Amino acid sequence: MQASGKLHIGNLVGALSNWVKLQEKYDCYYFVADWHALTTLYTEPESLRESTEDILINFLAADLDPEKCTIFLQSRITEHAELHLLLSMITPLGWLERVPTYKEKQEELRDRDLSTYGFLGYPLLQTADILIYRAKYVPVGIDQVPHLEISREIARRFNYLYKDIFPEPEALLTEFPKVVGTDGRKMSKSYNNAIYLSESPEEVKQKLMTMVTDPARVKRTDPGNPELSPVYQLHKIFSTKDEQDEIFKACVTAGIGCIDCKKILLRNVFAILEPIWRKRNELLRNPDILNDIIERGTRKAKTAVQETMQLVRAAMGLY
Ligand code: SF4
Repeated sequence: MQASGKLHIGNLVGALSNWVKLQEKYDCYYFVADWHALTTLYTEPESLRESTEDILINFLAADLDPEKCTIFLQSRITEHAELHLLLSMITPLGWLERVPTYKEKQEELRDRDLSTYGFLGYPLLQTADILIYRAKYVPVGIDQVPHLEISREIARRFNYLYKDIFPEPEALLTEFPKVVGTDGRKMSKSYNNAIYLSESPEEVKQKLMTMVTDPARVKRTDPGNPELSPVYQLHKIFSTKDEQDEIFKACVTAGIGCIDCKKILLRNVFAILEPIWRKRNELLRNPDILNDIIERGTRKAKTAVQETMQLVRAAMGLY
């Protein structure tokens, strides 16, 4: 999870909830990618620190269990950087330049100077993150598949040039529900439309109750079109199928007002967030617990990467 902002409910239902399920089935490594965040946020160290802490707390609050998976900080396992460097020796520049998100993201973040070596090398750092654990699967959304493809190519190239050390990682394709923000666009920190896990119940309530609805539904007596209402898009994620059906019918016949409709959504979102808020508060009151968990995860991850790095160094002729 890249530390480029606080986590919002889109991150929760898109990634974290899936990770919680995966920890039951696989030997999972989950980390806060703080170096990755620096590829675009290198002028904002304060916000990096804040995001890192927020993500770590939310990992635990959302039920990632340090007994079942390994939780750590990327920058604490410096071997990721070593492998990044070593892989950079064998990675053709063209492979990095043709990753589609390279140009797209530069366009998207025009206000930042991303003509840096670190930004170009982002997919290579990600490759090192994966290969260093000789990972078999990476849980990704469809838009991340090109990044994984380059990791597979680099693994092949390394194995061909030196020694068969790296399995080619496969995508564990995850369907992320599209979560809209309070203005109906994709939920994103940059659109200022997100509902954050760190927000108070009052803040969440205020954001949901003032959320955009079907813009054509002006009066209570106007029938609405739920498909054009961002509120209904959130019902599709947070409400039961029966509730969704009832709301749909009531909306198109003007049988429910938008305020009552939002109250149902609020209740369902709160049901998911309340246990997270409880655990967050507990962790904020006891930061030692968080530090202990990170230390434990760091030790475990360190042990896991040592063997890979010994093999890599030897294969590349390092004395
Ligand atoms: S009743 Fe609900 S779904 Fe229909 S427009 Fe209002 S908020 Fe949206």
